[in-house]
Amino acid sequence: VFIALEGGDGAGKSTQGALLKQWLESLGRHVVVTREPGGTDAGRAIREIVLHGSHISPRAEALLYAADRAHHVESVVIPALHRGDVVITDRYIDSSVAYQGAGRDLGTDEVLQLSRWATCGLVPTLTVLLDVTPEVGRQRRGDVHDRLESEPDDFHARVREHYLQLAAADPGRYLVIDAALPPEEIHRRVRERLTPLVEV
Ligand code: C5P
Repeated sequence: VFIALEGGDGAGKSTQGALLKQWLESLGRHVVVTREPGGTDAGRAIREIVLHGSHISPRAEALLYAADRAHHVESVVIPALHRGDVVITDRYIDSSVAYQGAGRDLGTDEVLQLSRWATCGLVPTLTVLLDVTPEVGRQRRGDVHDRLESEPDDFHARVREHYLQLAAADPGRYLVIDAALPPEEIHRRVRERLTPLVEV
């Protein structure tokens, strides 16, 4: 079972990842919680470049996210899925489609193709989209601490809009939840949807 947590900055993905891991382990499942960018050693170096390095061109940025993802899928996600573990990733392909494709205006189809190639087409069992408005995201982020988080609200609005479009196009594979709800309520809804998928 492969679960992707998606959503704008400040949506609460890491909190939900931790709650989900706790619950799944209580059911006796082995769980790997991981993230993009930065789920591997090479990925951490890439994360440093894209988030804290000097300015890079948008296409170079998109290729670096894709490189991070290719290595992450091959060295962390696929081996864990083969062991029968549940894998929870904090961000996956949709982040690139929404941020680089829509936010940076590189073309959502092109960025999707790039990620599909990078991952050999590995698709999550379920993608949980924590839908956050730019305003709430900004308040939750507090002090700006990397380049992306300092983007203006209209960038985050484009990202949000595209996430919602992706989810609307494939409702069977997405669960969309208002990120402004209390974390326990969000977790309850995720559990409800996942229960039939994770029973041992
Ligand atoms: O979610 P996390 O804090 O790890 O993301 C780090 C930053 O990278 C965020 O500001 C996010 O907007 C950005 N990002 C991006 N494109 C991706 C993945 C993350 O712009 N494909």
